[in-house]
Amino acid sequence: KVLNFGSLNVDYVYDVPHFVCAGETIASSGRGIYSGGKGLNQSVAAARAGLPVYHAGSVGPDGGILVDTLRQNGVNTDFIKLQDAPSGHTVIQVDPNGQNCIIVFGGTNRMIGKDHIDGVFGGCACGDILLLQNEVNNGAYIIQKAHETGMTVMLNPSPFDEEIRNLPLDLVDYFVLNEIEGAGIAGTEDPEKILETIFSRYPSAQILLTLGMLGSVYYDGNCVYRQAAFPVEAVDTTGAGDTFLGYFTYGIVKGLEPQEILRLASRASAITVTRKGAAGSIPNLEEVLRETF
Ligand code: ADP
Repeated sequence: KVLNFGSLNVDYVYDVPHFVCAGETIASSGRGIYSGGKGLNQSVAAARAGLPVYHAGSVGPDGGILVDTLRQNGVNTDFIKLQDAPSGHTVIQVDPNGQNCIIVFGGTNRMIGKDHIDGVFGGCACGDILLLQNEVNNGAYIIQKAHETGMTVMLNPSPFDEEIRNLPLDLVDYFVLNEIEGAGIAGTEDPEKILETIFSRYPSAQILLTLGMLGSVYYDGNCVYRQAAFPVEAVDTTGAGDTFLGYFTYGIVKGLEPQEILRLASRASAITVTRKGAAGSIPNLEEVLRETF
């Protein structure tokens, strides 16, 4: 079982002729409202891969769409606390070239109390693996609690900021990083050096580094495995990393061979990038296994 203590965002997406400038008011020609947040996307990915997923987090009265999306994907939402404050949300401008520009408001994602965390970890043996990103507050306490409970801790330090260094990273069993997060943690941009640096600091951790179109690298504590990205026509790379992480987690829980895990996760995220959107574009396991590229 997987416990994802993660962010839940309502994404408000506006089509604009160009990004709004200082002092300017522009009209939007279309608006979409979507469920998002790295936490939600990763729960959906792990659930579509076929894992039993519990999502812990917090929403406000405007967060019904988020809970509904998780439930529709078979994710358990018993540990999502309703608070009297706005849910995490983003305001996204999309221009005619498909470029975007985003404001994120943490809202209830940043209001996770220690009593809530104690309840999640104390009330039940709700997971074997904890997934955590960097969009909820009290991350250090969450990692500590998961470790005390004997869970495997998988950290995706995304989006990267300096606060990551204050987390008890020595308690992390799996680092899942893209190049930016890897460079942030290791202080170097070279993928080999990122692996070496993280390994030298946290020798018992396993490391998955995703490199966009250049594929992925996984150090499982013994060997380094590499996987090229599948050549597809990318339409929207949003959610690629979240899909990879969900399927990687599936492979770990199911005890698949490392190379097989990378192949499966790459195939799944290649499908995601061929579709527009985030959570909605994540394929399920059947689709991934049917894909022949
Ligand atoms: P993130 O979304 O966190 O930045 P990456 O960009 O590293 O993560 O992408 C994660 C994985 O998704 C890559 O390792 C690769 O397997 C796959 N992927 C990303 N972009 C593409 C692409 N343009 N074509 C095919 N696969 C891709």
